[in-house]
Amino acid sequence: MRSVDEHQRVVAGLIRARPATTATLADAQGLVLADDVVAGLALPVFDNSAMDGYAVRAEDIAAATPGHPVVLPVAEDIPAGRTDELALLPGTAHRIMTGAPLPAGATAVVPVEDTDGGMDTVAIRAPREPGKHIRRAGEDVAPGTTVLRRGQVVTPAMLGLAAALGMAGLPVLPRQRVLVISTGSELVVPGLPLRPGQIYESNSVMLAGAVREAGAEVLAVETAEDDVAQFAAILDRHAAAADLVITSGGVSAGAYEVVKDAFGREGDQGVEFVKVAMQPGMPQGIGRVAGTTIVTLPGNPVSALVSFEVFIRPALRRAMGLPDPERPQRPAILTESLTSPRGKRQFRRAILDAGDRTVISYGPPASHHLRWLASANALLDIPEDVVEVAAGTELQVWDLA
Ligand code: AMP
Ligand code: MG
Repeated sequence: MRSVDEHQRVVAGLIRARPATTATLADAQGLVLADDVVAGLALPVFDNSAMDGYAVRAEDIAAATPGHPVVLPVAEDIPAGRTDELALLPGTAHRIMTGAPLPAGATAVVPVEDTDGGMDTVAIRAPREPGKHIRRAGEDVAPGTTVLRRGQVVTPAMLGLAAALGMAGLPVLPRQRVLVISTGSELVVPGLPLRPGQIYESNSVMLAGAVREAGAEVLAVETAEDDVAQFAAILDRHAAAADLVITSGGVSAGAYEVVKDAFGREGDQGVEFVKVAMQPGMPQGIGRVAGTTIVTLPGNPVSALVSFEVFIRPALRRAMGLPDPERPQRPAILTESLTSPRGKRQFRRAILDAGDRTVISYGPPASHHLRWLASANALLDIPEDVVEVAAGTELQVWDLA
């Protein structure tokens, strides 16, 4: 049997980074910058008003008081977006809105609250220092400034900055594109009626969600019956456009193992099927098909998701350059006693109390117990050689929260 560590290495070796590209801003969020970003524009772009009020020459209103306001003619009205270039003559005011371009010659803005709000003339009740309520061109970003660094994960605020600088896209390490295929003739799409012997298909939505949660992109989601031709047709249709194919089911020791059967053909040596010393998730497969990496997971829902966590999630995140490819692993004190199979690394669903640093298993170890998986917040990582764990023992815990 292959160790978990060894299989992690094999999977990680086949999930490879895509070349850096320019993503539209809408697509760039959550991706890692592949390059520094240098501003090609000043921010603010031009001198503009920080307030709704009146642009003036500061010296013209130096004597203004509430009792003796300075009255000036209002020569222009400047809403945000006005594009003609204006000049303020001495002894006049321009009504101006926040974000509107400051007229040449204006040295201060008086907020509307300190005026009578007049349209033809304005009575100004207080002076303003030169420069007051003016946002200067370039005071936020001077052109040529490196505003973002390679390796940063793109956040909404970064999208805002890039857009403000007039950029339509950002240089990023692109998302891995993943094709998710469920297999099994017993599977029915949720919402349709079940016949005897059938169950609802639950792996594909779960694995697709895990792919997205890992920061990758779901290219397509498909379900195949246990029929090699049908399964092969899905691969033919989508695999070439994917960076990774994830299948579930059809890899154990029974008959009708469609995934194994599909790759067991003469001359089709691209996928190896191995037993990994873990529970759940012993039967695994990994290889290349039509130039695309394929990871074949066992079909039991708990096995499928735990296998994704252990083998695929860290590899996908690494390939996208994302920080923290691994889940945080913390020591915690087990508050019960447990047994664990000899020779297998066991990942038990668990509830971690991160404050108390205690942990308790949650639900039975068998791999069809989806209900417990759904509300667990951690995985207990019990080493291969451990068969009994006494209450009070410290264990490594994968924090899924
Ligand atoms: P297999 O690995 O194909 O032998 O499947 C193992 C178990 O997982 C069987 O009980 C299957 O019915 C179940 N199973 C496989 N695929 C799915 C799926 N996509 N959704 C729900 N259950 C599944
Ligand atoms: Mg099956």
